[in-house]
Amino acid sequence: MQSEIETVITLGVDLKLNHLVGRSVPVNELLNFDAVFIGTGAGLPYFMGLPGENLPGVYSANEFLTRVNLMHADQFPAFDTPVKRGSRVVVVGGGNVAMDAARVARRLGGEVTLVYRRRKEDLPARQAEIARAEEEGVAFVMCTNPVRILGEQSVTGVECVRQEMGAEDATKRPEPTPIPGSEFILEADVCVEAIGQGPNPLLIHELPALARGKRGNIIVDENGHSSIRHVYAGGDVATGAATVILAMGAAKTAAHAIDRMLKEE
Ligand SMILES: Cc1cc2nc3c(=O)[nH]c(=O)nc-3n(C[C@H](O)[C@H](O)[C@H](O)COP(=O)(O)OP(=O)(O)OC[C@H]3O[C@@H](n4cnc5c(N)ncnc54)[C@H](O)[C@@H]3O)c2cc1C
Repeated sequence: MQSEIETVITLGVDLKLNHLVGRSVPVNELLNFDAVFIGTGAGLPYFMGLPGENLPGVYSANEFLTRVNLMHADQFPAFDTPVKRGSRVVVVGGGNVAMDAARVARRLGGEVTLVYRRRKEDLPARQAEIARAEEEGVAFVMCTNPVRILGEQSVTGVECVRQEMGAEDATKRPEPTPIPGSEFILEADVCVEAIGQGPNPLLIHELPALARGKRGNIIVDENGHSSIRHVYAGGDVATGAATVILAMGAAKTAAHAIDRMLKEE
């Protein structure tokens, strides 16, 4: 990544750092340019909407990982940002981000339980990520879904319900349904939700003419062209949460298309 960034800077690109488009810079200002590429990612974490979710000790995986990995919260007070070091941590989710969060929580010294609503073979995370999480001592509790986060001043536990696997759903996996009466409590002082994330709506909402998909993603054609003339988009904001290499590929495709458009005009 670093060498890619240095290459872009060497090309003579003028970087405006610490500018939040839609707040510190009006979106309309962007439209004064001959072409715009939107690559604002999918940084808005989803939450389950559970009772108790606002208790101290509940984090989205994004917040938890940002605090530790980018803001060095693990070295608090040497760094300003704190993070609650759970002695018992429940991570909810089954993707790569859930594995990242579980492993980071382990390295902070907690006993970590990862809760996922389907079976182990249905985990969407890469096999290597799952294996590494297991090697680091993360406990997996499958076919289980949280229903409530317990606690008064802060998290003390997560109430869960066992799930039964039913007929295949639209994703060709068995549809999980709760088993009545199977509720149980996992003691926890930290709960990290890693159930996915979507595009941050800030910039996109300011452009009502921008065609959007069901999950708020920008709809683009194969060249990254959006529904607005001269506005292109790519990466997670268009595809939903994906990978670095796909985002970089989409940006290069759009850059070529923008170049062709400017030359033609
Ligand atoms: C915890 C985690 C682990 C991951 N691990 C991997 C991995 O191992 N390998 C992999 O390939 N992918 C991984 N991914 C996915 C990868 O990070 C994304 O697919 C990729 O970063 C998408 O690139 P992007 O440029 O579309 O968006 P981003 O990298 O999210 O960049 C978007 C940028 O736009 C900025 N922005 C947003 N809104 C505004 C605004 N209004 N004004 C100004 N700036 C704005 C954001 O601050 C951000 O800097 C991971 C993701 C997460 C969350």
